[in-house]
Amino acid sequence: MSAINGIANVNIWTGDGHVVRDTGVSVFGGRVSAIGPLSPDVPGVLDGQGGWVMPGMIDSHVHLWGARTPHPVHWVVDPRLPNALRSVADIGKILRSGFTTVREAGGPLGPSLRQVIDAGEIEGPRVVPAYLGLSRTGGHGDCHTLPVSWVREQPFMALVVDGPNNLRKAVRTVSREGGRWVKVWASGGVLSERDSPEHMHFGPDELAAIVEEAHAIDLPVGAHCESLAATYAAVEAGVDAIEHGFQLDNDVCEAMRERDVTLVSTLSVLQRYARWSGPEITADQRDDAKRLLAKAEESLATAVRHGVRVAMGSDCFAEPMTPFGRSADELGYMRDVGVDADTILRSATSVAARLVGMESKIGTVAEGAYADLLLLPADPRADLDVVINSSRITAVIKEGRRIA
Ligand SMILES: [Zn+2]
Repeated sequence: MSAINGIANVNIWTGDGHVVRDTGVSVFGGRVSAIGPLSPDVPGVLDGQGGWVMPGMIDSHVHLWGARTPHPVHWVVDPRLPNALRSVADIGKILRSGFTTVREAGGPLGPSLRQVIDAGEIEGPRVVPAYLGLSRTGGHGDCHTLPVSWVREQPFMALVVDGPNNLRKAVRTVSREGGRWVKVWASGGVLSERDSPEHMHFGPDELAAIVEEAHAIDLPVGAHCESLAATYAAVEAGVDAIEHGFQLDNDVCEAMRERDVTLVSTLSVLQRYARWSGPEITADQRDDAKRLLAKAEESLATAVRHGVRVAMGSDCFAEPMTPFGRSADELGYMRDVGVDADTILRSATSVAARLVGMESKIGTVAEGAYADLLLLPADPRADLDVVINSSRITAVIKEGRRIA
């Protein structure tokens, strides 16, 4: 990594849809100090050669626990230290592919990774961790075929908790351990052993307790919802984001827009399941994923049509099935559904920044914001592949340092 003082001769897509042409970005102390033309002859200034600058991207749904299999049994029983070291490799890949921030959506390592990355001790994107999410007994964050005491004593993804009072305490635990938002599994999911996407998890009193407790200490809540019923319940309870939202209708999208609930769209994970031919997935599971993918694509299109704020998430959680460093594939899947390029790019920048309460600091190219920047050879709105195919990114810059 080497520090830069700016980028000259570029056009800027600012992250919120604005464009500044024939300009430059000055960098000082890891932040953008000015936007305006500058000379490429100044030491430490990159010559953008007429290319484009946009904010470093944000993946709003990843799991950083170094898993190498999609099977939860392994996540509980495999030794933790090798997986922790693997996650260091995983986050390096994410950063080099143009993502300078990730929102970690449930896992034990997020706060620790955040700490060592922020201290500059290892290279990775800024981590906004949920720490362990909240799952009911037998929920999507439980591991159904192992003794429940193992899952409770060695949580891999979730605190397994039931009842409003216990959930309140769990939210306090999340905040104590460094969680910056609260993840809750409000429905079951695909690939689970004994739950299904159609299952409702947690009652209204439990969801309300989570939201009240989290909001009291300024932690946003994101609810894993794969079914329509769970989405309604979560929106009604006052969550800030719906994770996945694979089955949405017009009314729930209208409610999400009215209540300012962000959809974290994760088509990638279903795309990976639907295409995977390895032994990790049965033919039935593959067919389930294909059916759900068709609904998820329709749901995303409906949400965009209703003006719901959409943030992109890859839901990468285990190599090799859901590879790290390929988050931007999600942008291509959104394009395939017919989402316009500006909305797609905002989903990886300004919308995601707002979701984590950092809209003036990340996801934007503006004076005072972190100098998290991508230098590109072309306008990403006209040629989205310039960010999807990370080998085309000319430079990834995080807090004013060019990543090798
Ligand atoms: Zn996830």
